[in-house]
Amino acid sequence: MSWRYGIQPLDLNEALRTILADLSPVEGTEQVGTDRAEGRVAAEAVAAPVSLPPFDASAMDGFALRYGDLEGAPPHTLQIVGTSYAGRPWSQPVPPRSAVRIFTGAAIPASLDTVVIQEDCDYDPDAVRIRVTPDAGDNVRTAGHDVQAGERLLPAGTRITAFHLGWMSACGVTRVRVVRRPRVAIFSTGDELVEPGNELGPGQIYDANRHLLRLLLSRLPVQVEDFGILPDDPAHIRAALQRAAADNDAVITSGGVSVGDADWVKRIVDDMGALQFWKLNLKPGKPLAYGSLGNAVFLGLPGNPVSAVVTALLIARPALLRLCGAGYEAPTAVRARLEDAIAHRPGREEFQRGILREQDAELVVAVTGDQSSNRLASFAEANCLIRIPKQSGNLAVGDHVSVLLLTGLT
Ligand code: AMP
Ligand code: MG
Repeated sequence: MSWRYGIQPLDLNEALRTILADLSPVEGTEQVGTDRAEGRVAAEAVAAPVSLPPFDASAMDGFALRYGDLEGAPPHTLQIVGTSYAGRPWSQPVPPRSAVRIFTGAAIPASLDTVVIQEDCDYDPDAVRIRVTPDAGDNVRTAGHDVQAGERLLPAGTRITAFHLGWMSACGVTRVRVVRRPRVAIFSTGDELVEPGNELGPGQIYDANRHLLRLLLSRLPVQVEDFGILPDDPAHIRAALQRAAADNDAVITSGGVSVGDADWVKRIVDDMGALQFWKLNLKPGKPLAYGSLGNAVFLGLPGNPVSAVVTALLIARPALLRLCGAGYEAPTAVRARLEDAIAHRPGREEFQRGILREQDAELVVAVTGDQSSNRLASFAEANCLIRIPKQSGNLAVGDHVSVLLLTGLT
């Protein structure tokens, strides 16, 4: 691909389009039990082995009858010849002008077609007097009404949720073929970084990004390998990236991709692999390197923790989902009215951290204080990202903005 060094930074959408077009799913699948399939990506379509419901079933407690037996105006009186319970069907013949007591989920006895609810009936053990005339087929769930045997429960590429699994269980499916988990190596970089649990020396800070990234990425069907902290030393970085790229499908770093003297990561990837772009027209998240190292995908996220998180959610997440064989899932966006003014100069698309809530049947969103890209505090209370379009000028209280929900992303 073309070398984007020094040319216009890419808009977020353009970067995403480039990445999604460039990446393809990893090879390899495995079969897993449905109890272990949540969050995994289906490698092939799953078909229903049985129809659901498997038989015509009653939707209500009442009486099953033959619609054709009802003549003239109500009430209709029928003999009760038996009972059909859920799991214990009535399997004997039902003579003309007879009914079967029936409960929700029970099979409709052969030759019957309609259920009247018990609230519309007066009954004793032998006979039922039906006060209304039902429509033919009332309160019957026909076989296959939910899904027909052989019908597709989900297509290949679906990220399997509890709802899919519930549906599979309802159809008796116990195993599913899924895409193997891509292996993702993560690094932090910077001489200033110290692992939490140790004393801070002069000029040192604790490593936040690696821990946050590991958690955010672990929500995806990937296997995260933690490679620790890299010093700002080119030989060291080179060796570590080489090792990580050999054993992993993706390598994700944070820090060292900006224009500082100690920002080695980008330069080394450019030298060792192929860098496709390294600047986004995005705030936070301007320095972001994307390319490859051998067969591994390389993503160099910015060092500032807020920038690292925003780009992890908006770029690394969809990129990894693509490696996992899943389709692109756009973040859920809603319109909300601003509770705070936002200063913005046209030029860069921006995402501020916000608190979205409902007020007087309307969605409103407040900004979480100082939005500096080092301030993880701006995420503490946040439940959304407020999107400020590239061309936008200052926004006033009451203006409408698009807001991306963090729920589902984090
Ligand atoms: P860099 O792009 O490497 O210059 O990093 C930008 C800023 O982010 C610097 O202030 C770094 O100290 C900080 N930073 C980089 N990596 C981390 C990290 N893993 N955790 C916390 N802060 C970091
Ligand atoms: Mg650094």
